Amino acid sequence: MREQALQQLKNVFGYGEFRGQQADIIDQVACGGDALVLMPTGGGKSLCYQVPGLLREGLTVVVSPLIALMDDQVATLNELGLKAAALNSTLSEDAQREVARQMRAGELQFLYLAPERLLKPRTLNFLQSLPLALFAIDEAHCVSQWGHDFRPEYLQLGQLAELFPGVPRMALTATADERTREEMAQRLKLEQAACFVSGFDRPNIFYRIVPKDKPRQQLLGFLREHKGDAGIVYCLSRKKVEETAAWLCEQGWPALPYHAGLPPELRSTHQKRFLNEEGLVMVATIAFGMGIDKSNVRFVAHLDLPKSVEAYYQETGRAGRDGLAADAWMAYGLQDVLMLNQIMASSEGDERHKRIERHKLDAMLALCELTTCRRQTLLGYFGETLEQPCGNCDNCQEPVVTWDGSEPARMALSTIYRSGQRYGVGHLIDILLGRDNEKIRSAGHQHLSTYGIGKSLGENEWRSVFRQLIARALVEVDLDGYGSLRLSERCRPLLRGEESLQLRRDVSKPAAWGSRGSN
Ligand code: ADP
Ligand code: ZN
Repeated sequence: MREQALQQLKNVFGYGEFRGQQADIIDQVACGGDALVLMPTGGGKSLCYQVPGLLREGLTVVVSPLIALMDDQVATLNELGLKAAALNSTLSEDAQREVARQMRAGELQFLYLAPERLLKPRTLNFLQSLPLALFAIDEAHCVSQWGHDFRPEYLQLGQLAELFPGVPRMALTATADERTREEMAQRLKLEQAACFVSGFDRPNIFYRIVPKDKPRQQLLGFLREHKGDAGIVYCLSRKKVEETAAWLCEQGWPALPYHAGLPPELRSTHQKRFLNEEGLVMVATIAFGMGIDKSNVRFVAHLDLPKSVEAYYQETGRAGRDGLAADAWMAYGLQDVLMLNQIMASSEGDERHKRIERHKLDAMLALCELTTCRRQTLLGYFGETLEQPCGNCDNCQEPVVTWDGSEPARMALSTIYRSGQRYGVGHLIDILLGRDNEKIRSAGHQHLSTYGIGKSLGENEWRSVFRQLIARALVEVDLDGYGSLRLSERCRPLLRGEESLQLRRDVSKPAAWGSRGSN
């Protein structure tokens, strides 16, 4: 089978060899097995069903959510001399009849259609009367409610298992955290299918995540390593985009702003300049990047925390498309977490939706606070395994120093608890440091037993402690939008002294706790 597959690849598609797991996937399906295929965009998913489609007898049915995508694919296949057609509402009656005729005559090799069209009883009946090679379900994550692309029509695709028992089915997608994958397998009745996750690694990208201190200065320091390089600096808000771009220009950096609020002409001018000129820095919101095809972007910097690992992966993935060394750099701090929480709290979505977003943010935070290889965790999130630490991320190159933060963590937790779980980080730190101010006195917090017990750490060190407590879900940020902290279930073992807590040492060395950590 492999030999034949390679022949098809060369003769029909004009490529010399398979990429990554393509050969294994094709083997699996060509031999009649089911498959779940997870590969990033541009990884080469189409060949995974097109080649087995040619190797097997009968028609290959491709389910795709968007007419534009279908038309592209059909055009490409036709150019290669293959017989492919899309059945959709834009087709005239006559054209539809012609497609049906080709199908009946066994002339058509590939049929693309949307799920709602496929699931019409008429279509299903017709297909049952034909020899079929396989079903390929593209953008299969649309079946998952755990995400933004949910399409109810996809839910019914599970029927194919019973209606076409002998026909292999494959589901393909680029988005796939653990949950999406499980949901996909379950709803599409592909629990028994072979699962292939691959191609997510971008080995030439160096990942670095630093705690935010003086972000502009930190950014400038990072940019100095990239003199003359093109790169993108992502910020969360339009205002911050404009301010940062203006500031970089003042510092002598060739920076341009980009966000959805700029006039369209200006946006397109900036985009064109970024593509055509060398060494420009685009300061942008996430509105910038969709469909940007510039291969020599040397760095992507984040001044604000992305709201999910998927977003981080996608945004950093715009660096180094040419395969040469590139940097993904991010500065993040407590404020980012609080701000994203606030955005989530005020968003429209229902409770379920907010809970999903909260989980995604937690995974992103965990990646930031990681003390081991970033790439292993990043790939692990997409279900891909990297056996060894990568050697090309900050944690691999400069092993993280940790310290035993159990004691200060307990102080922080009991301060949250004793003050009624209604205060934000600033006030909690004031209590721990024994500060005297209006808010302390009006709440009577100078009488708390934890008042002033945290003086052996500085303000920044306390911020780092709180940030890590939140990142590890020992403390929750209230969705009231004020950033109040409260204890989570998970902090109990720590409070009871049954667990200890190793923290990343990021600011300056917290000397007072260093010695305790070692005994
Ligand atoms: P995806 O659907 O995963 O986003 P595509 O199937 O569109 O990706 O493939 C992306 C590009 O890679 C296409 O231009 C395709 O022709 C090319 N490609 C795929 N497989 C191979 C291969 N084995 N050798 C060379 N090019 C390939
Ligand atoms: Zn690493």
